[in-house]
Amino acid sequence: MKIIMLGAPGAGKGTQAKMIAEKFAIPHISTGDIFRANIKNNTPLGQEAKKYMDEGKLVPDELTVKILLDRVAQDDCKNGYVLDGFPRTIPQAEVLDQELTKLNDQIDYAIDVDVPDENIVKRMSGRRACLTCGATYHIEHIPPKQEGICDKCGSELVQRDDDKEETVLNRLKVYHDQTQPLIDYYTKKNILKTVDGTVDMKDVFAAITAILE
Ligand code: ADP
Ligand code: AMP
Repeated sequence: MKIIMLGAPGAGKGTQAKMIAEKFAIPHISTGDIFRANIKNNTPLGQEAKKYMDEGKLVPDELTVKILLDRVAQDDCKNGYVLDGFPRTIPQAEVLDQELTKLNDQIDYAIDVDVPDENIVKRMSGRRACLTCGATYHIEHIPPKQEGICDKCGSELVQRDDDKEETVLNRLKVYHDQTQPLIDYYTKKNILKTVDGTVDMKDVFAAITAILE
């Protein structure tokens, strides 16, 4: 099963993608996580991506598409995957479709986690992330057992540089300009499913599971 998660930054794509990946035993692929791992390791890709991410802009398609296509070509993706944060532009979606068509394959579902802009800034300012294992928390809604420490791997939790309010507002604008058109794109392909992302994460997941099962 090949799934794409759509939605504004902070809508809960990553939270749900991790749960889908576990339930259906498929890899969770987040281009944002791949960039952040490269920034942490100070690779040339990380240095390049950071310039855009810090300003809330999208990393250019050429770079992003290449890392994504390399990742989905790996062995563990044979039975499917859940993409979180890719595609974010129409050209990215088109390249992915072209590559899948060559393999006689296609995306099964594009799930839009719908959360209005008013809720987003609050979500993002409370987000805490583990840069070691990729787990995500929210200081009010989904707190770790011990403040500032990742439940899964014990590393320190951090606030992402791009979760500051001013950057979040830029990211929301970029989302509306460049990513939201994908809703129409996948509606036309008859694979778009929308879930209400404002409810408790377990209820969002139940709605997604009902679609996938
Ligand atoms: P995205 O991957 O779409 O950017 P995340 O999954 O990281 O978003 O979620 C953004 C923030 O909102 C995180 O702090 C996360 O813990 C929190 N969150 C996710 N889903 C919910 C929910 N249903 N209700 C409240 N907070 C949520
Ligand atoms: P995320 O972790 O999905 O919120 O992504 C964090 C940041 O990484 C985004 O604001 C972009 O700067 C960059 N990024 C992640 N995925 C993509 C993508 N598909 N295309 C362009 N930039 C991306």
